[in-house]
Amino acid sequence: MPEGDTVWRTANALRPRLVGKRLLKVGPDRFSRLAGATVIAIDTNGKHLLIHLDSGLVLHTHLRMTGSWHLYRPGEVWRRPERQAKLVLATESTEAVLFNAPVVELLREREATRVLAHLGPDILAPEFDPDEVLRRARASERQPLGELLLDQRVAAGIGNIYKCESLWRVRLDPWRRADELSDEELGAVFADARKLMQGALRGRVPHAVHGRAGRGCARCSDRVRCLNQGQPPRLTYWCPTCQRARLR
Ligand SMILES: [Zn+2]
Repeated sequence: MPEGDTVWRTANALRPRLVGKRLLKVGPDRFSRLAGATVIAIDTNGKHLLIHLDSGLVLHTHLRMTGSWHLYRPGEVWRRPERQAKLVLATESTEAVLFNAPVVELLREREATRVLAHLGPDILAPEFDPDEVLRRARASERQPLGELLLDQRVAAGIGNIYKCESLWRVRLDPWRRADELSDEELGAVFADARKLMQGALRGRVPHAVHGRAGRGCARCSDRVRCLNQGQPPRLTYWCPTCQRARLR
């Protein structure tokens, strides 16, 4: 599933091929009138990716669980069927194709700003503001850590994998509620998620718990458990021994 680091990597791959380039062809048909525009910037915010055009319009995409960008040379055979292409941006030297993304919409700059206004600070942004994340975490409804980390209004970009991995690394029970933690403890979870995801940008990070239900925990050798958590339900993987709620 795409997480914030996937979207960052995608933006890094798209920028040199699209920014400053004129779009010769844009598909499918509902976007064809964008041909002739020049891409001026590509931004991400959490899992949202924005392609700004010199015409004052913005292509807003969200990959959710299924979307992925492919880059091709003009004329190269696509690795997915054309009907799955939700957006095609063709320049002189590149065809950037977005497959299976559930959100692809054309917005004005002002509307794009509004769409993103509810999001918390991007967990991967260079100017990340940990105090703002804490403020938002405290202001949100009392929710278990496993749900809080996925709440894009608190911090944008953390997905299910890094939710599980970060909670394991800081030894916190995913069912423990955020309001039971000190600012220091809560800040440490988000700081760890940021560090882990920055590491993932540089290369693959091995998973300690995610996808490892029934196997031994690398720290204590108890079995890793897996249960649905939240609405919509997402699988939470954790070690019940080293992530046990602390006794008081
Ligand atoms: Zn353990």
